[in-house]
Amino acid sequence: MFADLVGQDQAIGVLRRAAAAAAETVAGGRGTGMTHAWLFTGPPGSGRSSAARAFAAALLCDGPGGPAGDRGCGHCEACHLVGVGSHPDLTRVRPEGLSYSVRQTRDLVLKAAGAPTLGKWRIVLFEDADRVTEAAANALLKAIEEPPARTVWLLCAPSPDDMIITIRSRCRVVTLRTPPTEAVARTLTERDGVPPDMALLAARAAQGHIGRARRLALDEDVRRRRADVLSIPGSLGGVGDCVAAAERLVKTSAEDADAATAELNETETAELRKVYGEGSSGRGLNRGLVRGGAGALKELETLQKSRATRIKRDSLDLALLDLTAFYRDVLAVQFGAGVELTNEDRRREIEALARGSSPEDTLRRTRAVMRCRERLAANVNPQIAVEAMTLALRSPGVG
Ligand SMILES: [Zn+2]
Repeated sequence: MFADLVGQDQAIGVLRRAAAAAAETVAGGRGTGMTHAWLFTGPPGSGRSSAARAFAAALLCDGPGGPAGDRGCGHCEACHLVGVGSHPDLTRVRPEGLSYSVRQTRDLVLKAAGAPTLGKWRIVLFEDADRVTEAAANALLKAIEEPPARTVWLLCAPSPDDMIITIRSRCRVVTLRTPPTEAVARTLTERDGVPPDMALLAARAAQGHIGRARRLALDEDVRRRRADVLSIPGSLGGVGDCVAAAERLVKTSAEDADAATAELNETETAELRKVYGEGSSGRGLNRGLVRGGAGALKELETLQKSRATRIKRDSLDLALLDLTAFYRDVLAVQFGAGVELTNEDRRREIEALARGSSPEDTLRRTRAVMRCRERLAANVNPQIAVEAMTLALRSPGVG
């Protein structure tokens, strides 16, 4: 399971050692020596929740453990159930809607208090833990302060600063980094069979976001939508152009989100069907402990729905990050920095814009994109926020 992580050797080392120590704790029948609250941080796309899930698999794994005490074999039934999200001792949660409510958090705290069904650990994996409201955070804090002997909390957030300090100070922090372009490209080639040139282009354009790099490399529609976004800076003449560009950007990112959602849903649903279909008949796990397939599917659908809301918002933000990277490239050319551009495939346009404007223009435009991101995060209507941005991106004195 740790093999799914790209460019995170240091974090993996920490987690492997912790999982080996945890296995000793279980074998010795003791409840001490385990850190009960972990905070996985790292930029979007670095694999925070994959890392947390791999750690959960390592803690729950039934495999013998390798010579180095490697846990999380990826082949045993426990690992498999973790992989498809239906291990009875792993509760994986996403916010219902855009943030965690007090009620949702209290329910989780109650759930987490029980003893593990299979005798190892009871794990609660909080994706987007930074979206815990303050009131909900208080409910969570109490649970983390006095954890039951076999309960482990895994929280995921972009950075430690996103968590309120009282929670953060009780967590052991695991820091993921932005995976290097080469590592992402290599993974695309080895795992997905992407030709090396295309893999490098996609990895660079995705700025370390593995899922996005993969979609860029494998899906021509995604590449077309990215090209749409990057054509915006060059298309802003009059006010009408700006309104049209804003409309296109909002629509394009919604399409991108739908595609990403559909792909994730399909894989998960197929995996889950496999587990409840031919996969788990009669071996390993006590069948009585596995909930019925229909119930699990329904639960999965609920999670998928809340994720779709989130992906839609994140997708527009990713498009804006593409624009930010575009202007960063322009600035790099203006300052004559001989660096490799994120959008190397659009060097000609970037150089043209660099010649036709000043670094001050570029900084002003970058600020307009950042302001738009902030407004979207504050739930301003996307069309309105993006329109204000495209108008601000025009050349001064035009229209
Ligand atoms: Zn295993």
